[in-house]
Amino acid sequence: MQLLKERILKDGTVKPGSILKVDSFLNHQMDIPFINEIGKEFKNRFADSPITKILTIEASGIGIACIVAQYFGVPVVFAKKAQSLNLDGEMYTTKVQSFTHKKVYDVILSKKFLQPEDHVLIIDDFLANGCALQGLIEIVETAGATLEGAGIVIEKGFQHGGDALREKGIRVESLAIVDSMSDDSLTFRD
Ligand code: 5GP
Repeated sequence: MQLLKERILKDGTVKPGSILKVDSFLNHQMDIPFINEIGKEFKNRFADSPITKILTIEASGIGIACIVAQYFGVPVVFAKKAQSLNLDGEMYTTKVQSFTHKKVYDVILSKKFLQPEDHVLIIDDFLANGCALQGLIEIVETAGATLEGAGIVIEKGFQHGGDALREKGIRVESLAIVDSMSDDSLTFRD
């Protein structure tokens, strides 16, 4: 998505540890007209899929998923990262290795919000090693729902999580794939 690539080049910054910061427009401060364009793009790419639910993970996926969901006209459900008194009933749980926080955390979703008849589109801001996505995919599979694919805003292609998931036959649509980055240069996959 050209608009996204231009925005990353203009406003993104590279931090130590292969972290791309896009917090001025995507996952801290959020540029809503810009994210609306992202929503339209995902709707175009998954126009043929009978999506009934959008699944994401807290926290930074939620805002993006909500905007995307408006173009599909379906609910958003987000996996939570910790047990909370607000969670009741039966849950799906799995463990995920965090790329940004370097620790393993639990991912939890109430069973009542994901049913076998659901057709799920997973949305997230970043795809790096693919651990977050794999955790969400595991929950969809355990629920017996149909995974239509994953819509990722920025994939870091040099960390290969996306390639591994595509090799397994999962449809991963990333709006920008960064193939290399350093302090003063950043290249995209065509
Ligand atoms: P993965 O599980 O694919 O290794 O990492 C994906 C998760 O880590 C995303 O949900 C995102 O929150 C976070 N993440 C990974 N790489 C980056 C990055 O370069 N920048 C930011 N802002 N978040 C990242």
